[in-house]
Amino acid sequence: MRAAVVTAYDQPLEVVDRPVPEPADGEVLVRIQASGLCHTDIHAARGDWPVKPPLPFVPGHEGVGVVERLGGGVTHLAVGDRVAVPWLGYACGRCGYCVSGRETLCESQVNTGYGTDGGHAEYAIARASHVVPVPDGVSSLDAAPLTCAGVTTYKAVKVSGLRPAERAAIFGIGGLGHLALQYARIFGAETIAVDVTEDKLRLADDLGADHLVDAAKTDPVAAIKQLGGADVAVVLAASPTVLEQAHAALRRGGRLVLVSLPKENTMRLPIFETVLGGISVIGSIVGTREDLAEVFRLHSAGRTRVDVQVRKLDEINDAIEDVLAGRVTARVVFQP
Ligand code: ZN
Ligand code: ZN
Repeated sequence: MRAAVVTAYDQPLEVVDRPVPEPADGEVLVRIQASGLCHTDIHAARGDWPVKPPLPFVPGHEGVGVVERLGGGVTHLAVGDRVAVPWLGYACGRCGYCVSGRETLCESQVNTGYGTDGGHAEYAIARASHVVPVPDGVSSLDAAPLTCAGVTTYKAVKVSGLRPAERAAIFGIGGLGHLALQYARIFGAETIAVDVTEDKLRLADDLGADHLVDAAKTDPVAAIKQLGGADVAVVLAASPTVLEQAHAALRRGGRLVLVSLPKENTMRLPIFETVLGGISVIGSIVGTREDLAEVFRLHSAGRTRVDVQVRKLDEINDAIEDVLAGRVTARVVFQP
């Protein structure tokens, strides 16, 4: 099978032939039909974060495909089922986090495309317990970005406690942001899309954003304050400066949700404004299997739209350069 492999953190990925892996007990072999490129894959491939993935490895945690073989003891799935293989590749199912519906906080979790080989290949091995069935109404091409970008932003909007008639600002419209915007609308909010590129603001406009703020031309804090301030700000741009702007754009009682992981690990948090304004700062990491099932149901019901750009797996290094240069408005999806 073809697979995109990271062999060194300072080298491009190598697309090579590898034997098709065998599923062990509790695992399934999935023939990948679509695999989305997430910014996390780029951080993983370059060893950007404190805990680096062991080399060599296949990145990708938006793999969607068909179950082709079952490992021992797998009874709840059948050959031919279509499934998604998300970032949360395994969680223990027994710890306090797992049993209280917070499996994404499990300390024993294994992450797809980081701790184990992921979806940027023709086949992937996954834990049968942690794949999520994809309903018929969702194409594999759409399901791929929903598997991380979708569930991550859906969860971020959920944990913000966003209520109808509140105002939500989405900082960074791209693979994640264009979905965050749609979820904020589903939750009933007045929405503000903030970005620095015209293409992305046009996409936000298409998707029904109530207000567009071009942060390259205007001060986003002043522009949002002019509208009365935001009750919720979801930040998807990987920059501490943007986080600080988002905090400053909140009105009293506002909630700042941190999703992106900039290389610089620190932001400045003004204590006085946070305390007097009763501001909450919330970290949100991907979503549970149930969150992903909800994301698929919403999509199947026609409530969301996914902006996808299809590429060949062989072009993965070019695709990474395009994402880093901001030349991709939406999500790159590989069809191996
Ligand atoms: Zn991701
Ligand atoms: Zn656990």
